[in-house]
Amino acid sequence: MSDYFEEMGWTPLAHGETPNHLIQMARFLRDFGMWDMLGENEKLSPPASKSAVNNLEEVTIESGEVKQCPVCLKDFQTGNKAKLMPCRHAFHQECILPWLEKTNSCPLCRYELPTDDEDYEMYRKEKRRAVEREKDLETLHNSMFS
Ligand SMILES: [Zn+2]
Ligand SMILES: [Zn+2]
Repeated sequence: MSDYFEEMGWTPLAHGETPNHLIQMARFLRDFGMWDMLGENEKLSPPASKSAVNNLEEVTIESGEVKQCPVCLKDFQTGNKAKLMPCRHAFHQECILPWLEKTNSCPLCRYELPTDDEDYEMYRKEKRRAVEREKDLETLHNSMFS
């Protein structure tokens, strides 16, 4: 069965690589200008907060640095400006900004920027707490049964 991504000639995953649906979606939306179709159906986190986006570090690509924008797959040219996410992933401004208006996470590694969405921030805190509780239980379990 050939699927969309195959038809577009995107390289299959190398051994040990896991599919990254976010980056595929980012490319898809960019290629077809379909940012607006990213609607309620997609389970994406809310948009990044404006201040977080404004505070993204901007870097100028130095000569000799071979880097590719993960969204459009074009090489950065020397002197190009790129937006650097806190996870150190660099993107063209015109590639990452529309993305961050849709969702707060890095399309490459899912690093999450803060959002302006209070409900979501609560949910994030809860999720972190749940993970910690689970760790505590595990420690307890291990100490009881080992
Ligand atoms: Zn780009
Ligand atoms: Zn990242």
